[in-house]
Amino acid sequence: MYNVTSKKAEEFISDSEIRDTMEYAASNRNNREVAKQILEKARAFKGISHREAAVLLECDQPDIIEEIYELAREIKRRFYGNRIVMFAPLYLSNYCVNGCVYCPYHAKNKTIRRKKLSQEEIRQEVIALQDMGHKRLALEAGEHPLQNPIEYILESIKTIYSIKHKNGAIRRVNINIAATTVENYRKLKEAGIGTYILFQETYNKTNYEALHPTGPKKDYAYHTEAMDRAMEGGIDDVGIGVLFGLETYKYDFIGLLMHAEHLEATFGVGPHTISVPRLCMADDIDTADFENCVPDEIFHRIVAIIRIAVPYTGMIISTRESAKSREKVLELGISQISGGSRTSVGGYVNEESEEENSSQFDLSDRRTLDEIVGWLLDLDHIPSFCTACYREGRTGDRFMSLLKNGQIANCCLPNALLTLKEYLKDYASEETRQKGEAMIKRLIPSIPNEKARANAVKYLDAIENGERDFRF
Ligand code: SAM
Repeated sequence: MYNVTSKKAEEFISDSEIRDTMEYAASNRNNREVAKQILEKARAFKGISHREAAVLLECDQPDIIEEIYELAREIKRRFYGNRIVMFAPLYLSNYCVNGCVYCPYHAKNKTIRRKKLSQEEIRQEVIALQDMGHKRLALEAGEHPLQNPIEYILESIKTIYSIKHKNGAIRRVNINIAATTVENYRKLKEAGIGTYILFQETYNKTNYEALHPTGPKKDYAYHTEAMDRAMEGGIDDVGIGVLFGLETYKYDFIGLLMHAEHLEATFGVGPHTISVPRLCMADDIDTADFENCVPDEIFHRIVAIIRIAVPYTGMIISTRESAKSREKVLELGISQISGGSRTSVGGYVNEESEEENSSQFDLSDRRTLDEIVGWLLDLDHIPSFCTACYREGRTGDRFMSLLKNGQIANCCLPNALLTLKEYLKDYASEETRQKGEAMIKRLIPSIPNEKARANAVKYLDAIENGERDFRF
């Protein structure tokens, strides 16, 4: 029985509701009128339901698809402007007791080199990341109660926040670790994490159980209800996602939106971010073994329709995607990207050779952070290293209400420009610096509020003269 506010996974992600929705969408495939009505509703910028979104995804009329893209671009501009927040993943340990059949960390993989960073190695990795210019990290680890207990994760977070190398600082640590207990979520919250991210992988319970044959992760309900426990533990910024390619995209797209609706209906805050990873080649993993891989054209539509359905959520894309693919989805809705990433454990200090592999997936985008920043500037996006909301306590419903009211534009634009300026001063190549300075100069006049504009100019001057870390 479908119940959006139920505490039970199988009720808020009801299989029959997903199947009915797929049927409803298929029966309206060529119904232009219904699609037009849904788009009309979406133009109020308050989102649409999973059923409505499923109809848009099913639609194969070129002019309506173009309208979908146009609306997604408009929503992106309205809520996020042309800012793109930068982050990097930091892989702590690839020891794992699970048997996920798509993941190279799976316990039976004998060819991957197992590695866990010591606190000293974490220090070295973080210094390397700070020297690139990163301010925001996503911590990643396999699930292993002995190798990677919560105490190890907490100690690592402490180490990361304590390192101040030159002008560097990691100001926000997001966490992508396995589903855990309310008590552990509380500890993570107390450690000062930003967003807790957990991918559902797939919402289809039968398929989920086949894909996770062994280990604690095989418990579908425990995994699916993780965000409810995280919220109970006081983490009000949570990030959801599915690994596209494991299940039919139609099923998981609907499940993902139902999960967002569940969080919004139950806690009054939807997901802070939605990630859209696609399955990649990796050690011991061949994507040819998976029949549901998503083609680019469909992937673009998925991104655009998530943007329309959940206008306030941040959307993340990683270096699993190529530069070309990232360019397309940036305008359709993505608001955060990783750059200069290494997915191997210890990879920022020692880049691995092919034989040494300890990485989670093969990178499609191997450019340096400076190249990515330069590329974003060329595309007229503002690379932002902002972490202000989290540090000002604007998380959960406080962040969401600002965003929903469109108010965030008054602090986000200046914050993006200030953190870009820091990057340009401390880390950029001369070419990137010139492009960035030109963008800052051009955009200062578009800060809407007069006082904010004057303060931004003052802070930019101070950064030029060696001061750091201003925020609105
Ligand atoms: N171990 C934690 C867990 O189980 O949720 C999280 C960390 S895991 C390093 C991060 C994510 O990588 C997984 O949730 C999965 O979606 C993704 N992943 C695993 N194998 C992948 C592959 N072959 N290609 C792309 N992404 C993959």
